[in-house]
Amino acid sequence: MARVYNFSAGPSMLPEEVLKKAAAEMLDYEGSGQSVMEMSHRSKVYDSIIKGAEQLLRELYNIPENYKVLFLQGGASTQFAAIPLNFMNKNGKADFVITGQWAKKAYQEAQKYGECKAIASSADKTFSYIPKLNKYEFTKDADYFYICMNNTIYGTVYHELPDTGDVPLIADISSCFLSEPIDVTKFAMLYGGAQKNVAPAGLTICIIREDMLGNARDITPTMLNYQIMADNDSLYNTPPCYTIYICKLVLEWLKEMGGLEAIKERNVKKAKILYDFLDNSKMFKGTVVPEDRSLMNVPFVTDSEELNAKFIKEATEAGFVNLKGHRSVGGMRASIYNAMPIEGVEKLVEFMTEFEKANS
Ligand SMILES: *Cc1c(COP(=O)(O)O)cnc(C)c1O
Repeated sequence: MARVYNFSAGPSMLPEEVLKKAAAEMLDYEGSGQSVMEMSHRSKVYDSIIKGAEQLLRELYNIPENYKVLFLQGGASTQFAAIPLNFMNKNGKADFVITGQWAKKAYQEAQKYGECKAIASSADKTFSYIPKLNKYEFTKDADYFYICMNNTIYGTVYHELPDTGDVPLIADISSCFLSEPIDVTKFAMLYGGAQKNVAPAGLTICIIREDMLGNARDITPTMLNYQIMADNDSLYNTPPCYTIYICKLVLEWLKEMGGLEAIKERNVKKAKILYDFLDNSKMFKGTVVPEDRSLMNVPFVTDSEELNAKFIKEATEAGFVNLKGHRSVGGMRASIYNAMPIEGVEKLVEFMTEFEKANS
């Protein structure tokens, strides 16, 4: 069996240990005589899976009691509508920082429901940095302030959060979910699609402070009403059962590894190997300003489209797959999520070194 090093931005690599455990439990989950795919979401055995996953997530992220954890469907993109429907309900206003396509999509969707202000944007330089924010431009009576924490396509991340005072801060953490510790209390809501760093596709995890709930607009579809989902412990309807089970295995893997401090240390080490190489290479260079670089998504280019294409082709043949940059920006991007072993990045850098020698 030959497994490749998969640098996909999502869906992406899962830890091999998790895949092996899932395979071993496929036909008979803990003596139930069934696969998790086949069981009722109302069964006792399934209840221990979904509750177990929530408990582990609470432990790892240190989520306070006054926050709800929801396991939903529809992807991060569905929350772009659910968030204004649930929260843009006092003054009908919200602030956004436009740091890339995902932030922009959230901003555009929210405009259907109220007055949205783009506080700043880094579109002028292809989103290669996190814009400096002037808090005097923030809307004082906004219902919330929205950011995309880690910008998957462009490879930037906030190292410092906007100071929004009493205005609730909401962050899309799809592509940095569980990559390092986070102070949940600084946010009214954190959410993300699980397919980048936590599970296969099909699951969206929302962490919401309780006082935010209960004021959804009347027109809010039942399935998008966070209060209803919270009241039903994410079991209002059939949840993505199997994906939640894999999520639980990933959380167990993270806990065994020593939790988020440990994974952060590993992620920092991994990213440094690649950034150090890019900073010293004459052929390849990173596209993000050093101070805003992401630990998870690393875009880079050579100075020729031809060379980019040659590199991607040869890398793929050598077992380093999905290195092509997002279709909107071109070049290359290595997504090095939690499940990517250090060895995967070391080998990629060796390959890049050889490629540079052979082609210069
Ligand atoms: C991938 C991604 C999305 C979109 O997620 P879906 O689950 O496909 O809707 C949104 N935001 C960020 C930051 C992403 O990386």
